[in-house]
Amino acid sequence: MTTALSYIADLHVHSRHSRATSPQCNLESLHYWAQLKGVAVVGTGDCTHPGWLSELQDKLVSADNGLYRLRPELAAPVDRRVPALCRADVQFMISGEISSIYKRDGAVRKIHSLILMPSLAAARELSRQLARRGNVHSDGRPILGLDPRDLLHIMLEIDPAAVLVPAHVWTPWFALLGSKSGFDSLEQCFGDLTTQVFAVETGLSSDPPMNWRVASLDGLRLISNSDLHSPKNLGRNANLFGGTPAYDAIMAALRERHGRAFGGTIEMFPEQGKYHADGHRKCEVRMTPEESLAADNLCPACGKPLTLGVLHRVHELAARPSGFRLPAAPPAHYIIPLPEVVGELLQRGSASQAVERAVWQLLENYGPELSILLKRPLGDFAGLELPGLRLLSEALRRLRQCEVIREAGYDGEYGTVRLFADGELPELARRRLIASADRLRQRVAGVDASSPP
Ligand SMILES: [Zn+2]
Ligand SMILES: [Zn+2]
Repeated sequence: MTTALSYIADLHVHSRHSRATSPQCNLESLHYWAQLKGVAVVGTGDCTHPGWLSELQDKLVSADNGLYRLRPELAAPVDRRVPALCRADVQFMISGEISSIYKRDGAVRKIHSLILMPSLAAARELSRQLARRGNVHSDGRPILGLDPRDLLHIMLEIDPAAVLVPAHVWTPWFALLGSKSGFDSLEQCFGDLTTQVFAVETGLSSDPPMNWRVASLDGLRLISNSDLHSPKNLGRNANLFGGTPAYDAIMAALRERHGRAFGGTIEMFPEQGKYHADGHRKCEVRMTPEESLAADNLCPACGKPLTLGVLHRVHELAARPSGFRLPAAPPAHYIIPLPEVVGELLQRGSASQAVERAVWQLLENYGPELSILLKRPLGDFAGLELPGLRLLSEALRRLRQCEVIREAGYDGEYGTVRLFADGELPELARRRLIASADRLRQRVAGVDASSPP
C-alpha cells in the first residue's frame, strides 16, 4: 500500500434485520470490528428498513461531511475494549441493498443493487417511497418488483448525490451480469440512466483482473466490499482512498477515473468463492471454463450439464484473454483473513480459541488486522516470540507476493487458499530450529575461542 492512501472503506454490510445475519450485526459491533480490522468508513447497511433507520437516527450523529459517527456515549465503552494500537475514528456511510425481482423482455431478472445515500433524511425518504411499492419491513434487504433503472431514478430525484452500484455483478443468481439472472451489459439494464452508474462491485467470487477482461466495464470503477452477514467479516473485501473521509470526496474518487484518490481494492482470493470454477460437487469434478467448453459444458463423469461458475460467465463476456492487464488500473491487494493465516500456522481451526487468542495478541502488539496483513514491514515480526507464530513473517511475505496455493471452489463447494504446502510447516520449523541451534553453537564456540585456555 502506498503511503499516499490513507484510509479503508467497506460500504456493503448488513444489519441484523437482513435474512441470515448474525444478531451481532449492530452499530456497536461494527464500530468495534472496524477498529480491529483497520476500516475507517463502514456502510450502515439496510438503510431502507424502518426499524434500522430509527436506530440509525437514535445512535448516530452527523460528522458534517455526509458521513456519521456513533454517539460518543455509545462509542466510549466500546473503544475501551479495543487494543490501544487499533483505536481509531470510525465513520458510517448510509448504505443499503435492494433485491429487484422483475420481468423484462420476457425473462425474470433478479438483481441486487448497493445504494449509497448522502444523508439519513434522504434514506428515510427513499424508504417511504419504496414502502408504497412493496414490503420494506420484513427484510433489511427488501425484495421489490422494481427495475434497478427505476430505483436509480427515484434515488436521484430524492437527492442527486445518491449513488447506485450494481452489487456483486457476477454471481449467477442475483446479479446484473449473472448467468441466471441478469443482462449482458449495464446498458441493457439502465438504458437512459447508464451514465449515472460509475462503479460496480466485483463481489467475493471475482477480482479486478477478471473484470479487466470485459471491455464494457473499462469506464467503471471496480469496488469491493465485504457484504458481511457477521461483523467479524468486515473488511475482507474493501477499498482504499486517499485524503480525508467524506461522502462527496469518496464519490468524486470513484467518479474520476484518472484521479489518484482511489487506491484500488483489498480482495480475498476469488478462488475461495463457492462458485468460482465449473464442476459437479457429487462427481468431484472441477473444471476450468476452457475445459468445460471443450466438453460442451457436460460433466465427463455423469454426462449432465455442469454447474458453471463465475469465471465461466466472465469468460463468456470477455473479449480479452485471462491475464490481461488494464492500463493504469488501480491495484488489487490480496489478503487471507488473519485468523486463517494464524490457523494455518498453528494448524488449528480459524475459529478456535487458540487462534482467537493469538490474533488478539497480534492486534495488541501490531495494530489492526489489515495493517498487519498488508502494510507493516515484515521485519517488525522478526522478533515475534508468540508460540507457533515464528513463521508469521514468512507467511505474510508469501501472502504479499501472492505465493499461495489455490484450489478453486466449484458447484457450492468453498475453495481453499493456503500459504504452505502439506508437510512444509514442520520442515520449515525444523530448519529454523537447526539454524538457531547452529547460531547458538557458534556463539558458544566463539566464547570458547576467546576465553583463555
Ligand atoms: Zn446481494
Ligand atoms: Zn457429474
